[in-house]
Amino acid sequence: MRSPKHDLDELDAQNLRRQLRVIDSESGVVNFASNDYLGLANDPALKAAFTDAIEKVGAGSGASRLICGTHRPHAEFEEQLAEFKNTESALLFGSGYATATGAIPAIVGKGDVVILDKLCHASLIDGAKLSGATMRVFPHNDLGKLESHLRWANEQVAGKKGRILVLTESVFSMDGDRAPLQEIVRLKQEHDARLFVDEAHAFGILGPRGRGLAAELDCDGDVDFQMGTLSKAAGLSGGYLCASRDWIDLIVNRARSFIYSTAPPPALAAAAGECLRLIGGKRGEEMRGRLFENISQFQADAESAIIPVVLGENETALAAADALLESGYFVPAIRFPTVPRGTARLRVTVSAAHSAEEIAGLKSALSRLRKNE
Ligand SMILES: *Cc1c(COP(=O)(O)O)cnc(C)c1O
Repeated sequence: MRSPKHDLDELDAQNLRRQLRVIDSESGVVNFASNDYLGLANDPALKAAFTDAIEKVGAGSGASRLICGTHRPHAEFEEQLAEFKNTESALLFGSGYATATGAIPAIVGKGDVVILDKLCHASLIDGAKLSGATMRVFPHNDLGKLESHLRWANEQVAGKKGRILVLTESVFSMDGDRAPLQEIVRLKQEHDARLFVDEAHAFGILGPRGRGLAAELDCDGDVDFQMGTLSKAAGLSGGYLCASRDWIDLIVNRARSFIYSTAPPPALAAAAGECLRLIGGKRGEEMRGRLFENISQFQADAESAIIPVVLGENETALAAADALLESGYFVPAIRFPTVPRGTARLRVTVSAAHSAEEIAGLKSALSRLRKNE
């Protein structure tokens, strides 16, 4: 039998071995790796809401949602989120990963077709695989190929009441670019499919009151499933899905990650409610203003807070990340299988909490790096 060491040596040989790194807030290193885009994870108002809620409703939920784990704060947050996102219904999950891997197999199954963008996040890919539906992948943002897959899918499900589900992200997690959501909506309508959009990197940041890219493009009403996470701009943890009441009811009955997992702490749901008030209010506007100033200081034409510096080889990306750390900047090297082979990169994420000096400092450290190549 192969030992684990055998596999670890293989990973080492390809520069693909990963190591846990303890982040010490006292280290003096400036963090350009976090998805806490608005700086909410350490926001005094949010921290106070969380600790107050623990005092009031306790630390844990006690059971899964369908047993006795649905507490008042869960229901209130879901109602508040549905109103914020302008959908009939919303459902809170333990994480974004659990949302995708639970919801997608609840929506489609054997005999159905799921069509996804090549650069979709692992959680969407895993959800699609778990569903047992036939999978078709289109090259990143390639509408022509999406349309031909939709035609093919309609032939497959013709006369069988089969479902066709298109999966995409609104802002892509490792490239920071955006999906052409309006065109995708038009295609899914023309070809009788449903659309599932993961707004993990747009929720809280883009659109009116931070409602996401679909809202910014005014097509959110035509997106059947709006997924997101509370783990990024919202500064907490947890995932959500917004959809019509019937779909959410079905997902409550079918999503295994929802049914067979203990409910998130009710205090977290209460804090998430406070977070929505912050994001949707004046503070949110201010934080987004600062974030966009910081993004354009770093790179004028950036489409989001995620700015990749593609370097190619794993070794090159790792060496660059080490050199930046030496200079006091934490920027992670992202490698296969998170990104395609040969596209290893530094992934810079800008936050509202960065100062102009920190951003200028990272920019000059990066250009020193490029000169020394
Ligand atoms: C981070 C991420 C997820 C998973 O969300 P978690 O709450 O961290 O589990 C899902 N989709 C995308 C695009 C992500 O970037």
